[in-house]
Amino acid sequence: MDIQILEMAERKCKFILKDSTPSMANALRRTMLSDIPKMAIDKVEFHLGPIDVDGKEFESVTPLFDEIIAHRLGMVPIPTDLSLFNYQKDCVCGGEGCPSCSIMYLLKKSGPCTVYSGDMEPLGSPDLKVKDENIPIVELTDRQSVLIYAHAVMGTASTHVKWQVANGVGYKYLPKVSIENDVSDEDSIKAVIKGCPKKVFDDVGGKLVAARPLDCIFCGACKANSRGAVVVEADDKNFVFKFETDGSLTAQEVLDKAAEILSENAKAFAVELRGQA
Ligand SMILES: [Zn+2]
Repeated sequence: MDIQILEMAERKCKFILKDSTPSMANALRRTMLSDIPKMAIDKVEFHLGPIDVDGKEFESVTPLFDEIIAHRLGMVPIPTDLSLFNYQKDCVCGGEGCPSCSIMYLLKKSGPCTVYSGDMEPLGSPDLKVKDENIPIVELTDRQSVLIYAHAVMGTASTHVKWQVANGVGYKYLPKVSIENDVSDEDSIKAVIKGCPKKVFDDVGGKLVAARPLDCIFCGACKANSRGAVVVEADDKNFVFKFETDGSLTAQEVLDKAAEILSENAKAFAVELRGQA
């Protein structure tokens, strides 16, 4: 099994999984969706009663229920350095909460204004500041205010979707587009090029060429429009994979971690099997 990177950006990745099987491709997909750890807000403390801001008194009321604000904070992507943080249950603090297993954010704003994710101030390193600063949390009117302490801890999406790092994780069999008989008459070339919804084909000097076969979605339009001259096959040993992240981890970190987790799971499974024998 091998991986050939086609596109690697900070938050999205496209690659070919080579010499593998559909079950392994699906295992990788499910690992990316459910098992990659990240930090997310898990506990929120709301200050109740009047809030004093520069000698002016504000009420700790908002147009939204506290539960909805807590939920919105939970969905904000928290920057995660996997080498710095560990699960609270495995931490030396015994789950009490310490800088190795939790991050605390302070959210203090007074209306009239819109409270954004960028208003969350980390108590600690400024590197922990939320990267997506424009996620609206709640709108405050005059004399309304919030004073919130939000605690982020590590988790995985198998527990709750707020810990889901990767989105849009999907793959398809590697398309193999071949042109069996030369398609050189102008009408057929035009029909194939125009009929392809993913613009896979080009006309190169009066000859039909499959210039971007990886974009093929197996719709079969080229086969119909070329009266069978174009043949598309799905290679079930190679897979075109793509996914995006919510920004709490980079795409490279997600891919590395998924490979590490899959490998560890396979080893643990082998040990269990030997134990049963
Ligand atoms: Zn701890």
